[in-house]
Amino acid sequence: MARVHFANVSKRYGDVAAVDDLSLEVADGELLVLLGPSGCGKTTALRMVAGLEEVTEGSLMIGDDLVNDVDPKDRDVAMVFQSYALYPHMSVAKNIEFPLRQRKIETAERKQRALEAATTLGLEDLMDRKPGQLSGGQRQRVALARAIVRDPRVFLMDEPLSNLDAKLRVQTRGDIVALQRRLGTTTLYVTHDQVEAMTMGHRIAVMQGGRLQQVAAPQDLYERPANTFVATFLGSPGMNLIPARRQGDELVTPSGSLVVPAELSGIAPGEVTLGARPESLSLGTEGLRATVSLVEMLGAETQVHCKLEGGTTLVVRQGHDQVRPDLGHSVLVSVDPSSLHAFDAATGDRIEGSQ
Ligand code: ATP
Repeated sequence: MARVHFANVSKRYGDVAAVDDLSLEVADGELLVLLGPSGCGKTTALRMVAGLEEVTEGSLMIGDDLVNDVDPKDRDVAMVFQSYALYPHMSVAKNIEFPLRQRKIETAERKQRALEAATTLGLEDLMDRKPGQLSGGQRQRVALARAIVRDPRVFLMDEPLSNLDAKLRVQTRGDIVALQRRLGTTTLYVTHDQVEAMTMGHRIAVMQGGRLQQVAAPQDLYERPANTFVATFLGSPGMNLIPARRQGDELVTPSGSLVVPAELSGIAPGEVTLGARPESLSLGTEGLRATVSLVEMLGAETQVHCKLEGGTTLVVRQGHDQVRPDLGHSVLVSVDPSSLHAFDAATGDRIEGSQ
């Protein structure tokens, strides 16, 4: 086992910086999730650790070894792909054994270790089948068994659940977490799915446009986002942003004013972007004037979209027992002042001292 350390790592394709000056350490035994939208550079970062992409600049360490120029096969990492990448003509047993065969481990030990890995993943009764005779979930478990069979220093997982249906995804997510916690193998896990990131990671590193935005434990990331990108990317739906201006003791918006809460007393007069999670908003008898533009009933909760004067739409999360407003009606959106966030209106960075 080992830590993985990116020190000012960049990867450029011509003019495109797929990964731009990334400094990040995955601790020994940690499951760190790289999270971000399509094209943010997360797969490129993972592939550099695997040795499938060259590092343009900076140093990449696995354990105490600088691996920039180390051959992929000598890095002692195992990768699990979205596409499973199993050999279709080989049995499950042969697929799982494959990394040991490559390392010329003798037959008896190979078979025993493959059976142990298969048993860990509940595959011991499927050893003679070919991948084509397995379900998607079983195929991904074979890929996981092949990754754990040689006890690598690091697991690299690239959206391994994307091809599974919703129910199986939740189950396999739990299986991977349990396996990682039990083996304690350092793991770098790439996904664009924030629910996956929140439920699986010891920590989450959020990327956008090749740059690291924030790295923190899931709850910290949710409660103290470093900027408006992280605030709106995490959460379903994400944080609401409200353009405002501080004037004296008031936060003035086109739809009415809020009193500056004690938590935000440090923000300077002038433009500010306020942030409020859907669960910190409610419909009441005071607050910002808005018109109901959409009501989405999701069973246990209802999401009410409210359009403020000035054009901003806020999503309010209601419990199923609350009165649902009618479409097109005027409402007042009240904001829980103690859970209001504040961001710099120009840069989007969190204003320290807020929350
Ligand atoms: P996705 O989730 O869609 O795979 P990602 O966050 O993993 O996205 P990357 O695949 O790492 O993103 O790509 C990051 C950026 O680098 C993108 O703008 C992409 O177009 C660019 N890129 C990736 N590979 C190459 C390549 N071989 N040549 C040129 N540009 C590339």
